Amino acid sequence: MTPAFTQLAANLENIARKNLYRSRRIIESPQGINLQLDGRNILNFCSNDYLGLANHPHVVKAFITAANQYGVGSGSAHLVCGHSFAHHALEEELAAFTGRDRALLFSTGYMANLGVISSLLGRGDAVFEDRLNHASLLDGGLLSGAKFKRYAHADIDHLVTDLQKAAGNKLIVTDGVFSMDGDFAPLKKLSHAAKSHNAWLMVDDAHGLGVVGERGGGILEYYDLKQDDVAILMGTLGKGFGTFGAFVAGSEVLIETLIQKARTYIYTTALPAAVAEATRVSLKFVIAENWRRDKLKKLSARFRSGAQQLGLQLVDSSSAIQPILIGDSKRAVVISNALLNAGFLISAIRPPTVPQGTARLRVTFSAMHEEQQIDQLLDALAKSMAC
Ligand SMILES: *Cc1c(COP(=O)(O)O)cnc(C)c1O
Repeated sequence: MTPAFTQLAANLENIARKNLYRSRRIIESPQGINLQLDGRNILNFCSNDYLGLANHPHVVKAFITAANQYGVGSGSAHLVCGHSFAHHALEEELAAFTGRDRALLFSTGYMANLGVISSLLGRGDAVFEDRLNHASLLDGGLLSGAKFKRYAHADIDHLVTDLQKAAGNKLIVTDGVFSMDGDFAPLKKLSHAAKSHNAWLMVDDAHGLGVVGERGGGILEYYDLKQDDVAILMGTLGKGFGTFGAFVAGSEVLIETLIQKARTYIYTTALPAAVAEATRVSLKFVIAENWRRDKLKKLSARFRSGAQQLGLQLVDSSSAIQPILIGDSKRAVVISNALLNAGFLISAIRPPTVPQGTARLRVTFSAMHEEQQIDQLLDALAKSMAC
């Protein structure tokens, strides 16, 4: 090995020694609550397919029909010749769904976040981020070259102190439903702080859209906040919607600015039109099928009461994300492995995804789960936590 690779190999050993080594599991079945893994049937409690739409027969059928119509590849970026009728129709439907002037599709949420933040800010500006924001939001802030400020989780006073000192354009950025904790951002207060300090507010609602709010309109529907209150909304399509991709929704000027300036929009291939068509169908289910959201609430409530009886340490979350705090990374891995042996897939989330000393089992629910499966999970947790 060359010296550079010797160093990398040593780094890998170091990661493993700290119980922070990451590896993939090979899934042999469709996405869903029942997975096939190493030839075994496993009950899945770690997917972001909250509404159970990733393998919905109508969504799958729309995908296949559209692939026959459009082919598989989109051929180019949106601005060259990759922007199809399917993409355009989905954008219009997402704008209507979110109650905003326009929506713009991105190939992934990660790219949407990098693109938005670096289009709006540059040197001399300032970005304010919740400490627990998703990595893509933090990376977007760093990429922009703006002054980068992190405030303590959901701490408005801390944010306001920083806002008062800032110059240039100001952008406050937050997860809507926090991805690793499941709690809601204090958006009314954030919106108020943004208005009174002449800052923009951007909400990444990857885990709220489809899941939270009466109509599945996400965290902004929950708090009844409009485009005037939150200028920039980002949503992903690979979670509650069960497909793939992401979008940004807001004013005409915002969307046109992104089309002209967002490098992660301009210099990348459009997502397949068939994915857009599949998402149009999944959006219809998101809007129409309230029972999926009601079911999630019921499952989370049942889990929370059972877990509290077992003395497990939960987070104050009313979403489909119900983490169990463990603390030590090694212990989180040991419990996750014990659960897998018992037939339950729940991943151990460790630093740097979450802060030091807060390793956790990130339990998530799907509208496809049954209450009896929650009880089975609680039984398995009781046994695995004892080991
Ligand atoms: C998953 C996620 C993203 C990234 O979206 P992808 O489409 O998977 O790239 C961005 N923000 C949050 C909060 C997420 O949970």
